Amino acid sequence: MCGVVGVYNVSSVLNTNLDGLHMVQHRGQDAVGVALSDGKSFLPNSPSRILGLVGDYKAWPGLLPEKILLGTGHVRYATSGVHASIENAQPMIISTRWGPFTIAHNGDTPEFEEQRARLEKEGAKFLSTADTEVLGESIAKQAETALTLQDAMLEVLADFKGAFALVMSTASSLIGCRDPFGYRPLSIGKLEDGWILVSETCALDHLRAEYVRDVDPGEMVWIDEHGLQSFKFGEQKSRLQQCIFEPIYFSRPDSKVFGRYVDGMRKDLGEKLAQEVGELDHENMIFIAVPDSAMFAADGYAKAMDIQLEHALIRHHYSVRTFIQDGESARDQGVRLKFNPISHRIKGKWVVLIDDSLVRGTTMRRLVRMMRENGAVGVTLLIASPPIFHPCRYGVDMKTYDQLLAALKKGKVDEICNFVEADELYYLSYDGLREVVEREGFLAQNFCFACFDGNYVL
Ligand code: SF4
Repeated sequence: MCGVVGVYNVSSVLNTNLDGLHMVQHRGQDAVGVALSDGKSFLPNSPSRILGLVGDYKAWPGLLPEKILLGTGHVRYATSGVHASIENAQPMIISTRWGPFTIAHNGDTPEFEEQRARLEKEGAKFLSTADTEVLGESIAKQAETALTLQDAMLEVLADFKGAFALVMSTASSLIGCRDPFGYRPLSIGKLEDGWILVSETCALDHLRAEYVRDVDPGEMVWIDEHGLQSFKFGEQKSRLQQCIFEPIYFSRPDSKVFGRYVDGMRKDLGEKLAQEVGELDHENMIFIAVPDSAMFAADGYAKAMDIQLEHALIRHHYSVRTFIQDGESARDQGVRLKFNPISHRIKGKWVVLIDDSLVRGTTMRRLVRMMRENGAVGVTLLIASPPIFHPCRYGVDMKTYDQLLAALKKGKVDEICNFVEADELYYLSYDGLREVVEREGFLAQNFCFACFDGNYVL
């Protein structure tokens, strides 16, 4: 997962871009990059990229002209290509016979290596190992015969098999696209006389931009001096495949994703979990949400069960999200740095920990140990989503079966529970998840559940 931002014709393009990236920082923490144009050409040093967080980005490397027309930005979370690589950071600049364009990508391309090999045979040279460059070079190849760069983009995107939300730009135009299945979110905002494209609407709120709408699946929006124009590409799908993991875990609760605020669905997931699990039978229980992503699911659970949540687990906000750290030992150390329990609240209690999802189980095992080290007499885990049995091919970093605890334990809940060293474990059911999606006013058939049911469309 990554975060993308595009800014067109606002008073401070660079700062707006960086502020927008800061607001989607939770979507990727490997690298950050920005590319700027004055309307005639990209500024020297575009793209300017660093490894690290948006806060580590100190300044544009060079003089800034008085007028900057547009900028594109990206925070990277590696799903394809080498991690922690400046070459794989984005935006990338791709040269074509119609001039250069920038590309920043959120998503994943399941078979990009084959496409890369084909392009290499045709003479393409790659500077990175990322699928984004394959998409960019495919457009460059198409541009050799297309009438315009816009035509080349539309022709390539129509056939490109992958999950993508893209922010691209030419020197004078800002471009946003979502794949025809709509796996990843991308929203359009209005600020001053200009436009913002961004992965999540929480960034629009922070920028005080007005939310206009989402980019539709299979739509390209092209923003230039004539305003915003819309183009369709690819076969329009009767069933979408919006990623259900966005509202469960990845997106911020103050974002509207796929047309609904995330906080509402998370509360409903917690409420459904309460209905399915029913009363727990332990003395002296204390109910704790794993901060921050499980807080809304825990609220829903607490309301349904008429119990009080205790803030007895504190999250340190200046360490990175463990889910997207590289390597098992880094993750383990990350958990220790990230969470600290308030031991006097836990001592002598049966702890009920509520979390949004359980992927590898290593974070949860560390948390369960922490509870016991701080005097818990027992630990129950409540997970507000079903067991994850299958890898994601579309942009979330759970790419192999051996990363998935439920798959490794063949779905045996007692063995999963043993691994995380809890006393009991309950998941939300798969049917319960689908029911909540429908209750939110969506059609469940318009969501991807592949990591839960193995039903891959691409
Ligand atoms: Fe989202 Fe899971 Fe589908 Fe990946 S497989 S896109 S994480 S729902």
